[in-house]
Amino acid sequence: MHKPRIQPIFIAGEWRTGRGAPLISQFPADGSVNAELRAASVEDVEEAVVMADAAQRSAAWRATLPHQRAAILARVSDLLLSRAEELAALQTRDNGKPLAETRALVASAAGTARYFAAACETLEGELPTPRNGDFMTFSQYEPLGVVGAITPWNSPIASEMQKIAPAIAAGNAVLLKPAEATPLAALKLAELFQEAGLPQGLLSVLPGRGSVIGEAIVRHPLVRKISFTGGTTTGRHLAHIAADKLIGTSLELGGKSPTIICADANLEQAVKGVAYGIFSSGGQACIAGSRLFVHRSIYQSVLKQLCQVARQLRVGHPEKPGIHVGPLINERHREQVASYVERARAEGGRVLVGGCPPEDSALADGSYYLPTVIEGLPNHSVVCQEEIFGPVLVAQPFDDEASLLAQANDSVYGLAAGIWSADYRAALKLAEQLEVGTVWINTYKKFSISTPFGGYKESGLGREKGRRGILAYMQQKSIYLGLDPNPIGWCD
Ligand code: NAD
Repeated sequence: MHKPRIQPIFIAGEWRTGRGAPLISQFPADGSVNAELRAASVEDVEEAVVMADAAQRSAAWRATLPHQRAAILARVSDLLLSRAEELAALQTRDNGKPLAETRALVASAAGTARYFAAACETLEGELPTPRNGDFMTFSQYEPLGVVGAITPWNSPIASEMQKIAPAIAAGNAVLLKPAEATPLAALKLAELFQEAGLPQGLLSVLPGRGSVIGEAIVRHPLVRKISFTGGTTTGRHLAHIAADKLIGTSLELGGKSPTIICADANLEQAVKGVAYGIFSSGGQACIAGSRLFVHRSIYQSVLKQLCQVARQLRVGHPEKPGIHVGPLINERHREQVASYVERARAEGGRVLVGGCPPEDSALADGSYYLPTVIEGLPNHSVVCQEEIFGPVLVAQPFDDEASLLAQANDSVYGLAAGIWSADYRAALKLAEQLEVGTVWINTYKKFSISTPFGGYKESGLGREKGRRGILAYMQQKSIYLGLDPNPIGWCD
């Protein structure tokens, strides 16, 4: 009988079958199997960490100049671009996002590698002027050692590169644990880093269960930093472990982002922006604009237009051109999304559009869910407060700025917000009062690698991206040079 080939994983610089539990990558559009793997085992983690530590401490890696590390990242960037179509297709199979979105993620990953190559090339130490004339001081940045990177399934290649690129640029070694559902793009990245000449052992990709493999990485004494993107509950748990070890964490967590449409906004653009903000990626985005606040004077008109747009969106097979919304990651997640909509109905919410899977029999095998708009729920309801991570928007009217801000900020999350307004001064004033890490004014869900990203409140800790993003993977050493021939003069 034909036995399917087991996809090898990348442990300590070698491609081999993991020694952990079986793991399957499935196409969310129809449940077909993309690849069968064996996850990493705890022994595999041990081996990878020990090798990573040795490789990171090796004289050869320590001696690499910034432009040598930058050159590796630049080659990875070129390789990503030259294989963009293959990588986008792979990612679409792995997580079900439409090809247009996965192409953008590959381009974003390539840009991230280039950006951190440049950040590494241009990073300078500091020469503070001492407050005393008999010595001089300088301060240099050094790598941390072995970094554990843990990622979710919704934008794998982009979120993985956002961790690997700055960590390698800074001179660290990285152990990457991708999400259970999406191991393939991460393994492909390992291939590209190997091809680009990253010395053996500096990167391992260890798919597996978070509670087993992720946790083994976080708890390992040789791992000196955790960079995590995922849910707030998991992030909090990992932060506790890291606190015990006294190591740093970068945490990119969940969100329940408000979008605000002011009375003077360009409604056509605002409605498109709101639809894009919540329904692209099927709402499986940390920054999904999942709460909508509309000035009461235009509330009914906005909802009417929004429902029209939601009905027109093409929900379908993610490999077909022109599709706006693909399937959710898996059936279990679709059931979770559906249960929130049922809860909204039970609590008196009115489902204006969507609220069920599509009827199209061609989509019956995939975990699809229709773009959904709900109104009539109070701000404190579960559906207005909890992250659903699906194509579900809750809409509420507002009367004045004070009540708007009270409601928009009434959330444990603080990742992002959107404002649609013709008055930039008023919009900026509003932006300053929103308790979130990113505000988009008259646009939404746009990204630049040069702009720091991260959450307020329970949406995270620390910032990724931006020139200073590399510093999250470094520690600072200050050196004093005595200039006085009798520097101490204590027991003369
Ligand atoms: P999740 O927290 O369940 O899992 C994320 C990763 O953590 C996975 O690789 C998982 O295997 C691992 N993990 C789980 N338990 C672990 C443990 N005990 N120890 C170590 N690792 C563990 O999140 P998810 O469901 O995969 O992703 C969705 C969540 O991610 C949403 O909350 C979303 O908002 C968030 N997210 C945030 C950002 C951001 O930048 N702020 C970006 C994307 C996704």
